[in-house]
Parts: sequence; C-alpha cells; structure tokens
Amino acid sequence: MKCIICRNDETVQGKTTVTFERNGMTLVIKNVPAWICTNCGEAYVDEEISDRLLKSAETAEYEGVEVEIRNFQAA
Ligand SMILES: [Zn+2]
Repeated sequence: MKCIICRNDETVQGKTTVTFERNGMTLVIKNVPAWICTNCGEAYVDEEISDRLLKSAETAEYEGVEVEIRNFQAA
C-alpha cells in the first residue's frame, strides 16, 4: 500500500487512535488496527474498520455522549 502523503510504499501493521468530533461530541477510539507508513507515520484504516468506527460514533452521538475515550473492540 502506498502512502498518499509521502508516496513511500511501505506500510506496517500497527495501531492508531481515531478521534471523532461532531455536534459537540468528542469520541476517541484507541488501539484501532491500521497500516502505518514507515516513513511519515500516517495511519490508514481499512474500510471495514472505518465503517465500524463511524457506526460507533453515530451510536455515541445518539446516546448523548459528550466526551468519551474507548478502546477499539475487535469483532
Ligand atoms: Zn508516508
């Protein structure tokens, strides 16, 4: 996989933190599996995982969460 930031084509499996901020809600999800660029450190999350993150953010918003830090739950 090629990094779109620095065009380095080496990424390694690792973990990243994803933050959602919308309508006054802040949701931080830690330990999200991602591909990390070995050159610049940019993280790329697979589509399936980012779908799940979006759903978590929607649920948190619906539940009226203001600020929350979670760990990513593997399926
Ligand atoms: Zn890069």
